[in-house]
Amino acid sequence: MTTYVYDFTQGDKDRADLLGGKGANLAEMTRLGLPVPPGFTITTEACREYLAQGSEPGELRVQVTTALRHLEDKVGRQLGTRRDPLLVSVRSGARFSMPGMMETVLNVGLNDQSVQGLAEEASDERFAWDSYRRLIQMFGATVLGIPAEVFAAALDDAKAARGRASGDGPVADVDLTADDLRALVDNYRRIVTERTGRDFPQDPREQLDLAIRAVFDSWNTDRARLYRRRERIPQDLGTAVNVVTMVFGNLGDASGTGVAFTRDPATGAPGAYGDYLQNAQGEDVVAGIRNTLSLDDLHRIDPLSHHQLLQAMRRLETHYRDLCDVEFTIERGHLWMLQTRVGKRTPAAAFRIATQLVDEQLITEDEALQRVTGDQLASLLFPQFARSGDDGAASPALTTGMAASPGAAVGTIVLRSADAVAAAERGERVILVRRETNPDDLGGMIAAQGILTSRGGKTSHAAVVARGMGRTCVVGAEELDVDEDAGSVTVRAAGRDPVVLQRGDEISIDGSTGEVFRGSVPVVASPVERYLEGGLDAALEADGSGRGLDEQTESLVRSVDRLLRHADARRRLRVEANADVPDDAARARRLGAQGIGLARTEHMFLGERRALVEQIVLAEDLAERDIALDQLLPLQRDDFRGLLEAMDGLPVTIRLLDPPLHEFLPDHTALSVKIAVAHDRRNHGVPVGFGDEELAADEKKLAALERLHEANPMLGVRGVRLGLLVPGLFAMQVRAIVEAAVGLLREGKDPRPEVMVPLVGSVRELQIVRDEVESVVRGVTELAEVDLDVPVGTMIELPRAALTAHRIATEADFFSFGTNDLTQTTWGFSRDDVERTLFTTYLDNGVLTISPFETIDADGVGRLVRIAVDEARATKPGLELGVCGEHGGDPESIRFFHDAGLDYVSCSPFRVPVARLEAGRAATGAAPSSTR
Ligand code: PEP
Ligand code: MG
Repeated sequence: MTTYVYDFTQGDKDRADLLGGKGANLAEMTRLGLPVPPGFTITTEACREYLAQGSEPGELRVQVTTALRHLEDKVGRQLGTRRDPLLVSVRSGARFSMPGMMETVLNVGLNDQSVQGLAEEASDERFAWDSYRRLIQMFGATVLGIPAEVFAAALDDAKAARGRASGDGPVADVDLTADDLRALVDNYRRIVTERTGRDFPQDPREQLDLAIRAVFDSWNTDRARLYRRRERIPQDLGTAVNVVTMVFGNLGDASGTGVAFTRDPATGAPGAYGDYLQNAQGEDVVAGIRNTLSLDDLHRIDPLSHHQLLQAMRRLETHYRDLCDVEFTIERGHLWMLQTRVGKRTPAAAFRIATQLVDEQLITEDEALQRVTGDQLASLLFPQFARSGDDGAASPALTTGMAASPGAAVGTIVLRSADAVAAAERGERVILVRRETNPDDLGGMIAAQGILTSRGGKTSHAAVVARGMGRTCVVGAEELDVDEDAGSVTVRAAGRDPVVLQRGDEISIDGSTGEVFRGSVPVVASPVERYLEGGLDAALEADGSGRGLDEQTESLVRSVDRLLRHADARRRLRVEANADVPDDAARARRLGAQGIGLARTEHMFLGERRALVEQIVLAEDLAERDIALDQLLPLQRDDFRGLLEAMDGLPVTIRLLDPPLHEFLPDHTALSVKIAVAHDRRNHGVPVGFGDEELAADEKKLAALERLHEANPMLGVRGVRLGLLVPGLFAMQVRAIVEAAVGLLREGKDPRPEVMVPLVGSVRELQIVRDEVESVVRGVTELAEVDLDVPVGTMIELPRAALTAHRIATEADFFSFGTNDLTQTTWGFSRDDVERTLFTTYLDNGVLTISPFETIDADGVGRLVRIAVDEARATKPGLELGVCGEHGGDPESIRFFHDAGLDYVSCSPFRVPVARLEAGRAATGAAPSSTR
C-alpha cells in the first residue's frame, strides 16, 4: 500500500520531494526536539494522483483518519469537539518554496459547538468568535470560492456599526467585541448559504477534507503556474499538505507571531534578524498588514521566549549549516516553531554568508561555491545609483523605506498591477507602488522595474517575492500615502510640506538603501563590477568617488573575489568570449576570458562595406569579384589585427563569413518598386531622376537577386555553403587573418589566430575549405618567412554534423558547438521567430519549461552534443571541444557542457565572470541553482 500520510515524527529533511519543503523541515525540527506543534503531512504523491484523477486516492481518507486519531491521542483532544476541541491548520508546502502562491486554512474544526469549547478553554469569548469568523472567511474564500471582498465588506460593515454604537467613528478589527464577532459569524454564514446554496459545513472532518482538497487545487491556480514558470519549477510536482495542531498568537499581548532569519537575508550581516507582531495570527506578518516589531522588541516583551527562539535558531543554523528562516508563534509565553527552511537571500548576502560560514568552519570552500550562483553574481554587476560626491548624484531622498531587495530601479509610477503589465507591454519602465502587495500582484511585480510599498517589513509578501525574483524592492515606506483611486502618492514627512506624485511621474528607488527619489537618478558601476574590471586592489581603494568602501561593501567584494578565485582553481572548463571588436575583446580579457571562442565576421561587412559584398556575390566575372575582394582585404586585416592585439598570447577563433545571404543584398521589394516607377515615369514622359545606366544596372541586380532568392534563408546559402559558392571569399578572409598575425609577429607580439568554418554538414565541405586555408597560410608565411600555426576547426551546428562527427573530426583541429543553430535545426524552430510567437503557449501548456534557446535542451540537442563528443574523441582523442552558442553563458547549460566533457565555453564578455563561477561550481558537483 502506498503511504500517503507521514506523521511529523516519521519524516526528515531529505524527503522534501515527497513531503514538500515545509513538511520535511517540520519533521526535521521535530527530530531535533524543537517545539513543533504535532501534526502530519500528506505527500506530494497524493496531490499528483488527485490532480491526475480528479479525486483523492481511496486509501488517502483512511490514512488521514489513522493519522488524525494518532494526533488526537497525542494531544489528548479531539477535532472540533464541544469540550477543549482540537483545531488544526491545513497548510500547503511544495518541494520548492512558492511564497504566498498557494492556500492555507487556519482554525479548521471550529463550528457552532466547538467555538464554545474554545472560548471556555481560552477563557476568552472574543478570541473564540474571532477565530471562528477567520475560519469562515478563509474557508469561504479558498475552499468555497466566494470572493474575498464579500467578507471584507461584511467586516467593514461590522466595524462601521461598532463605530456608530460607541460614537467613536470607524474602529479597527481589534475593537470588535465578542458580540460583534458573533453577529459577524452569523452574517458570514448567511453569505456562505446564499452564495453556495448550502450551509457552512459543521462537520469538522468534512471541513478538513475540503480544506485538503482546496490546497491540492491551489497548485494549479494561474498565479501559481506563472510563478513556477518564472522560477523554472516544474509544473507537475504537486504540493504536500501539512495538517498542524493550531497554536494561537492572537491570545492577547503575551502571544504573537513572527518570522526570523539566522542572519540578515538582505545584507548577509551576521546575527539574528526578524519581524514580530504581538497578538496576531498566522499570515499577518507575511501579509504586511501591520508594521512589525524587531527581535530586540521581543526581548523586552518576553525575554524567555526570545532566548528560546535564539537557541532554536542557532541549533537550526548549525544543523543545516546555512542561513535558515523560521516562522514562530508564541502562545501565552510558550514558543512554537511553525516552519523553517534554508532561507532565500539577496545575491550580496549569498556571497557574504557563504564565506562567513567557511570562516566559521561550518562548510568547506567547495560547499561555499555551491551556495552561490552565476545568476546572483550577474545581478551584483547591476549598476547602482550615483551617491553624493559622484557626478550627477541624486538630490536628497523623498523618503526612505526598508531595503528589501537590492538594485537601482527607475520608472514611472503605476498603482495597479494590470497597469504595470500593460505599460511593460508598451515597452515602458514602471515602478509598481502599492500599500502592500498580495499574490495577485505577481504579474505586475514581474512587469515592473521595481516595487515600492508603504507597509510591511522585510518579510512581507512584496519583499519575499521580489527578493526571490531579483527585482528591486523597497517596503514599509510609511511616509507614503498611496491612493489608488485618486492615482496619486503623497509623501508626508514630519516638518515638510506634503509632496504629491501622480501616476506617470518618474521616480527612482534604491533597493540597497531603501531610498526613494523623485525623477530619474543617474547610475554608476557597482563595486563588484569595478572589482571584476580592475582587480581587488582597485576596487577596495575607492568606490569611484574617491572614498574608501564601507565595511559591508568591502566584505562583499572580498567574498566575490575569494569564491571566484576558488572557482577558477576548481574548474576544468576554460572560459572564452564571443567578441568581434577590440573593445569587447579587451573588456572580456579584463573580466577573465582566456581567449576569443567566436569572432563573428558578419558585422565587418555591414555599413559602407556592404556594397563590396554585394559586388562579390552578384559579380558576373572573376575580375569584377577580385576587385571587390582586393578592396576588402586591407579592411579585414585591420579588423583582425585589432582583435589579435587585444588578445595577445591567447587564442582568437575567427569564424569565416556566415551570413544569411539576403541580409547583405539589396531589398528585393525596394528595388522592384524603384525599377517599376522608373519605367512608369519614362512611359509617361516624366523625368526618371537617374540615368539609363543606373536603371540597366538595377535591372541586372534584380535578375541576380531573383536567381538567389531563398524561401528559407536560414536554411540556405550560409556559412561554408557561401564559401564554396563564391570562390575567393574565404581565401581573402584567411589571408587578412594571417597577414595581420604576421604583422604582429614582426612587432614581437604573440598572435594566436584560429580559423573556424561555420555550418558544416559534411566532412567534404570542411576538407575543401581546409585545403584552401592551409594553402593561403603556407603562401603568406613562407613569403614572410615566419612560423605560424593556424588551427582549423569547425562549428557543429547541424544534426548531420553531430551525427557524422567521427568523420568530420578527421579534418578538424577543434569543434565548437553552435548551439543556437543546432537548437534551431534540431527542433526545426526558426530562432528569430518562435520565441515571439509560439513559446508563450508552449510554456503555458508545458511542452517547454524554458526556451531551448536559453538553456540547452539536454534530451534532444544535448544528446546530439554527447554523440558528437564521443564519436569525435574516439577518432581523435585530443580534439579540442567547446561551445559558442548563447548557452555558453547560461548556468544550467554550463553544467551540462562540463558533464559532457567539453574543454571550453565561449560567451558574451559580460557573462564571462558568471561562466567562470558556474564552471567552478560544476566541477564541485553543485546543482545548477542551489538557493531556489
Ligand atoms: C550558433 O549557431 O550557435 C552560433 C554561435 O552562431 P550564430 O549565432 O552566429 O549563428
Ligand atoms: Mg550559427
